[in-house]
Amino acid sequence: MGSLVYLDNNATTAVDPQVLEAMLPYFKDQYGNASSLMHSLGRSASAAVENSRRQVTELINAPATDILLFTSGATEAINMVLKGVFEHYQSIGRHFITCKTEHKAVLDTFAYLEKKGAEVSYLEVDHLGRLDLEKLESTIRPDTVMMAFMSANNETGILHPIDDLADIAQKHDILFFCDATQSIGKQKIDLRQIPIDILCLSAHKFHGPKGAGALYVRKKNKRIQIGSLLHGGSQESGWRAGTLNVPAIVGMGKAAELAKAKLDTEIIRLAGLRDKLERMLLTLPQTYINGQGTNRLPHVSNVTIRHLRAASLIPKVPLLCLSTGSACVSGSRDPSHVLMAMGCNPEDAFSSLRLSLGRFNTEEEIEKAGNQICATVAALRTESPNWQLFEKGLIP
Ligand code: PLP
Repeated sequence: MGSLVYLDNNATTAVDPQVLEAMLPYFKDQYGNASSLMHSLGRSASAAVENSRRQVTELINAPATDILLFTSGATEAINMVLKGVFEHYQSIGRHFITCKTEHKAVLDTFAYLEKKGAEVSYLEVDHLGRLDLEKLESTIRPDTVMMAFMSANNETGILHPIDDLADIAQKHDILFFCDATQSIGKQKIDLRQIPIDILCLSAHKFHGPKGAGALYVRKKNKRIQIGSLLHGGSQESGWRAGTLNVPAIVGMGKAAELAKAKLDTEIIRLAGLRDKLERMLLTLPQTYINGQGTNRLPHVSNVTIRHLRAASLIPKVPLLCLSTGSACVSGSRDPSHVLMAMGCNPEDAFSSLRLSLGRFNTEEEIEKAGNQICATVAALRTESPNWQLFEKGLIP
């Protein structure tokens, strides 16, 4: 058995050893409750939490005077924002705008809110996963409260123009919530320059621990009203009740510090590896990259290898950790809603692989993965009825 090649970094990433090292004391000797400020153990836990808040705030270059609160991850932050804004802005309106290619955490929360009376416009994307900004502006109504767009798509890596989106939101005086879960730590973001109102992130996507996330809220003249999802204690200045998960928060802070320090070199290194992998896979006939030619994250590739179901290919390359798309919908029998929204036909959507690289991937691994996928596809296609029909010209 050779060693595994992990190419599913959009699902989750390996915890960086330096992150683990930073966390360990908070499982052992430093076990204080960050709200127990009467004694030294509590105070040192509280200081560690505040240090993490600074580290995460620096990663997104937000002013320290803005609000950054810790959550259990992006799903919680998304639920908190969408449900909270719906509840608190009813006197202004109940209309929201989002996009068909958002993550299920956004789409399913909106579906829930629609049952409660929210009206949601789901914008289309083109074949490259891009939004039509004129269409967005024409969709804004006097009762529109907020627009919610991800920075980068989790299945394809395609980037939305968050600076233009923030300008549009500002121009029309509506809130802009950005689910930046996939781009934080992978792409530079500067919240002093881009006026995003609310943003969420998740530590396990950038080599931090699972179960730790953050919600950023811009301080405006009029305080943005979100309210709490969890009621109980007065932690996080009353935004989120519950004892803070100090080890995880410390890990997220360290992960943020490392991501910031490595960002420039990693963007170049990973784009080089990703391009190499794509070049190898594109030698296979009837293969294309979804979103090729548009702005994408440097480490993600979504490749359609036609007439071969990805779910049949993946078990045949057991030393490679690959995915067909979002981990949250694995097991679903439906084709990817992201690729379908981009105009892909269901058969091609079922034939698509998501390859997402991370800090610990090497060039050697990429060569190994490319060679294994190419050889396995060639072998499987000789037995694939669909491929044979295609070769005979009986299907397109
Ligand atoms: N949003 C996006 C774009 C994601 O990719 C994910 C996770 O895959 C989430 C939200 C949910 O994040 P979490 O696992 O922190 O709840």
